[in-house]
Amino acid sequence: MAFNDLREFLAVLKETNKLKVIDAEVEKDWEIAAVTRRVFQKFDPVQRPALLFNNVKGYSVPVAIGVLGASREIYALALQVEEGQILDKWLQAKQCPVEPELVDDGPCQESISVGEKVNLFELPIPVWTRGHDPGPYITAGCVISKDPETGVRNVGTYRLQLKGPDKMGLFIAPGHHMLPHIAKNEKEGRPTPVAVALGPEPAVSLCSVASLPPGVDELTIAGGLSNRPVKLVKCKTIDLEVPATAEIVIEGEVLPEIREAEGPFGEYTGYVGPVGNNFLVRVNCVTNRSNPIYQAFFSEMPPSESSCIRGIGHEASLYQHLKLNLGLPVTDVHLKEGGGSGAYLVIAMRKDNATQPKQAVLGAWSYNPELAKIAVVVDEDIDPRNPFAVDWALSFRMRPYEDVFIENNLTAVILDPSVAAPGIPQHEKNKILSSKMGMDATMKHPYPPVSLPPIEDLKKVDQRWKDYGF
Ligand code: MN
Repeated sequence: MAFNDLREFLAVLKETNKLKVIDAEVEKDWEIAAVTRRVFQKFDPVQRPALLFNNVKGYSVPVAIGVLGASREIYALALQVEEGQILDKWLQAKQCPVEPELVDDGPCQESISVGEKVNLFELPIPVWTRGHDPGPYITAGCVISKDPETGVRNVGTYRLQLKGPDKMGLFIAPGHHMLPHIAKNEKEGRPTPVAVALGPEPAVSLCSVASLPPGVDELTIAGGLSNRPVKLVKCKTIDLEVPATAEIVIEGEVLPEIREAEGPFGEYTGYVGPVGNNFLVRVNCVTNRSNPIYQAFFSEMPPSESSCIRGIGHEASLYQHLKLNLGLPVTDVHLKEGGGSGAYLVIAMRKDNATQPKQAVLGAWSYNPELAKIAVVVDEDIDPRNPFAVDWALSFRMRPYEDVFIENNLTAVILDPSVAAPGIPQHEKNKILSSKMGMDATMKHPYPPVSLPPIEDLKKVDQRWKDYGF
């Protein structure tokens, strides 16, 4: 059964020892980010817990971080599958979307603040990269809008800078699906209604960051992941619907023709991205559950929660495209977290012929031009998530002269500081081109046997393991 709300999932994380509740008092403008960074640095992913800060100084609302992506294990738990089944689970959800269901009321509107009563400063929104970020940022907002012409909904996780009690900056990277909604409304001089759902049922958040194709309502895929409709309620002040069990919902409008300085922000590349002239949201209303929980995604330098959840979403899309659309014998796809889960791709395949590795790389580059400055193809026996195995394949199955190919003038990996000429705003980097490198690290001819003891010898040793005194 799918989780109906964030609380159900938090309870499961707690039962399975995957949630660390922190009762010590913490300050939201430096300490939450620093504690979370240390947790990401000190714990191997397998042991790394999600965090619930119960005692944020000056606030009654707790802060949940890493709840969906402190590790791949936690992500798998949110989808209720084994780790190895994550990509196939996504494949199945995309093939069987489920339309959301409108209901009359939901817990996300147990408390309503409208107009003068709206005060975003009441929420414990953390500052992430202290000393660089100009203020607190909402990082886990599921930003909901509709195409004014087609009525098709989009849900995307875009960063929101807290600018006033009822004001937020909004940055949407080039190519992301809300941009045409705003452009079409601006052409008519209209604002764009926007709802930001915080802490909805886990499947909604996972879809919001998943890089689904344009024109796909992320909530239908969330329904596909859950095998049942996502329940929605109508917003109080705008013509949009939001997940009924979200912890907090911010209702507002993107103001037409207004751009304001937004940023800098400690980015997924591990570097601080600069200020840009970005959108402004005026907030009309905030609704929430009784005793709400504020959910944040931990971003900045990888590895982070953001690199975990965004990366898996991209992997699922690439896997589907390479395997189903192109019919390639791809067995696994991984975006390495060292590349911010964007710049460095490894594809594993059971190749039938010599041309398929290059076809897979070209397929990945054309499917999502923002990804894979470095793309490596390995054989099926190499686990793309095992860096040692990938290095081994690169070392002994790849011939630089024959197997490395570089293409110039492709779309740059978004926010890659190496391709930004000084003085060019990073937000216009979709206009900036970059070269990309593919490496075929598959075997080109029959190989000698691997230099390991026979497997039966190793199995015998396993059986006698304790006899050796270990
Ligand atoms: Mn979308």
